[in-house]
Amino acid sequence: MYSFGYFRPSSVEEALTKLNEAPEAKMLAGGQTLLPTMKQRLARPSDLIDLAGIESLRGIRREGHRIRIGAMVRHSKIAESSDIRQSLPGLAALAADIGDPQVRNLGTIGGSVANADPAADYPAALVALDAIVHTHARDLPADTFFTGMFETALDEREIITGISFPLRPLCAYRKFPNPASRYPLVGVFIARALNEAGDHERVSDAVRVAVTGAGSSVFRVREMEKALCESFTPEAISEISVAADDLNSDIHAGGEYRAHLITVMAMRAVADIIAARSNPSLVR
Ligand SMILES: Cc1cc2nc3c(=O)[nH]c(=O)nc-3n(C[C@H](O)[C@H](O)[C@H](O)COP(=O)(O)OP(=O)(O)OC[C@H]3O[C@@H](n4cnc5c(N)ncnc54)[C@H](O)[C@@H]3O)c2cc1C
Repeated sequence: MYSFGYFRPSSVEEALTKLNEAPEAKMLAGGQTLLPTMKQRLARPSDLIDLAGIESLRGIRREGHRIRIGAMVRHSKIAESSDIRQSLPGLAALAADIGDPQVRNLGTIGGSVANADPAADYPAALVALDAIVHTHARDLPADTFFTGMFETALDEREIITGISFPLRPLCAYRKFPNPASRYPLVGVFIARALNEAGDHERVSDAVRVAVTGAGSSVFRVREMEKALCESFTPEAISEISVAADDLNSDIHAGGEYRAHLITVMAMRAVADIIAARSNPSLVR
């Protein structure tokens, strides 16, 4: 390590003042990405602004028909929350399967979303669940938030304060993890909206399918969404595949294999939602 300043503000306003005073400063959340990159000299901030002392960035709360999760909420808290397990079961399952217990006890949803790793799990949940990323300055819909590999719509020195999700008791996430890191080679999140009568809504956005790990950034599979709106069964999407040419190909998996995994993971997520609807105790 090399020397750098360390500040632990107690409010978002104080953090912003520090960030504006030190243009080479970086925000520190769980440190699960930032500290390793500093050790490897891939990042060299002049100062770390530790967000852990800001009370308003913590907590999970219901706000009408939405659940708002503070940016500094750790993955383990999301996995354990009874509100999230009931109203967003796929998100709780996703958080429970990130990395290992150490990573889950330190890593935060705000840090993961800001980092926008193309292999991170949360982007699929945010896009499929039509979430909103709240910052100190504005609200950004998930569909336009992730703009590329490690790139987002955030301005420099914009602080994520929380992420809010509509209630979606019918949602599921399936990933094929890299056995070493647990990052997804492919992760598919599916969310299904119901109308007030509890019926599947026959509107174009009633089913959303979002894929992470397979491309340079999270993306939706509209063909699957359309097919699932017509018939919510695994068979409805068994013949739909994403073009392999557009997918990542690396030492872990080629594009063809990732394309195959997208269809398989999506079919499993649909089966999970069907099973959970008939027996809610089966929610993964
Ligand atoms: C061994 C290992 C295994 C992992 N496995 C997985 C996995 O399976 N799936 C997965 O999705 N992830 C995985 N991760 C990543 C982990 O989930 C962390 O959440 C992620 O690294 C970033 O979150 P953090 O809170 O640690 O952020 P930090 O590392 O502290 O920060 C990351 C970046 O976000 C910025 N930032 C942080 N908070 C904010 C904010 N509120 N507003 C604006 N910018 C902010 C920081 O300045 C920094 O640039 C793994 C990490 C490790 C080390």
